[in-house]
Amino acid sequence: MLELIHVISLHKECVVVLYLTSMTLSDMTMTTSIRGNPIIVIAGYRFNRHRIRGVKTYWKCSTHLQRGCRAVIHTLADMTVIKCINIHNH
Ligand SMILES: [Zn+2]
Repeated sequence: MLELIHVISLHKECVVVLYLTSMTLSDMTMTTSIRGNPIIVIAGYRFNRHRIRGVKTYWKCSTHLQRGCRAVIHTLADMTVIKCINIHNH
């Protein structure tokens, strides 16, 4: 069951809704993999940087390829989270 925790407004006309299951963004940490790639860890789930398009960076759950997990995070360059769907199938 989704729990709506954060509604933030980045710009006057842009309201962003964050869907989190049971954690807050204070659980989010940045680190790097052993290969040196940046990763985000939220409550034990790891997100790999997927692509950068414009000002947005797209992160996908590290099991996206193996298990098809659809959890995603979108951030800005300064790591402001603008979208967070932290719902995993594993
Ligand atoms: Zn996942």
